[in-house]
Amino acid sequence: MNAGEWLAKASARLDAAGDLDAAVDAAWLLCEATGWSRSSLRTRRGEALDAVVLDRIEAWLDRRASGEPLQYVLGTADFMGLRFHCDARALIPRPDTETLCDLALQALRGRIRPRVLDLCCGTGAIGLSVARFRPDARVLLTDVSADALSLAEENAGALGVSNAEFARGDLFDAAGEEAFDLIACNPPYLDEADMAALQSEVRREPALALFGGPDGLDFYRRIARDAPAHLKGGGVLLLEVGQGQADAVRDLLSWGQCAVHEDLNGIERVVEARVI
Ligand code: GLN
Repeated sequence: MNAGEWLAKASARLDAAGDLDAAVDAAWLLCEATGWSRSSLRTRRGEALDAVVLDRIEAWLDRRASGEPLQYVLGTADFMGLRFHCDARALIPRPDTETLCDLALQALRGRIRPRVLDLCCGTGAIGLSVARFRPDARVLLTDVSADALSLAEENAGALGVSNAEFARGDLFDAAGEEAFDLIACNPPYLDEADMAALQSEVRREPALALFGGPDGLDFYRRIARDAPAHLKGGGVLLLEVGQGQADAVRDLLSWGQCAVHEDLNGIERVVEARVI
């Protein structure tokens, strides 16, 4: 079978399985298995696929057609130009969160050897990106989930990050008495109604990483209460928020100088509070 034939067959199967991005997903599977670039696909459609590649993409296709998210099937997700290992131990890093990461790197400009805390680190996408792009920083990544933390530690190894530490615990329980220059967090923030209406793919992600209590704001309340004791003078807290939550979260941060930042879709996505 050649590449073009497989792509046609795979997209039809994914489409029938209800995948809204069937053709794109089929192309991803093929490119990841062959090592081909996405842009070279058009000219390589006539190339035959060898048995090893075919075995692998057929297995991936089965998993994708059963509704498993593409990043879990591939085992990787790209974030901030870095490649993270990704599986059902943690939430898939999303492009929305790159907005928070960019803001984190901006907030650290001019600070020498900053101390950074990534709460609810999941795959480690935020904390490890900061650690990679600011080798002088020392980053503590924490999560209540031992599974998530083990994935984050694997990612630190794969990315060659040595300026990161890991601790397991519930929010600030894992952070000791220390004060930080920057605290970044993408907490679970979906409310009960969101959880009831989850896309089937998102249901494959850990509920622990998604559910933020009845109104989705439980974690923000606790972080807003405890963050000041863990921030240095001039320190910055950056919180990713769900659509429509920015005002409520800003109201919780009356101790700080606040700003709200939009993501690339123009949605209010990050609330910042700076210690006055
Ligand atoms: N952004 C995720 C979603 O909408 C939720 C992530 C989170 O709760 N932090 O699926």
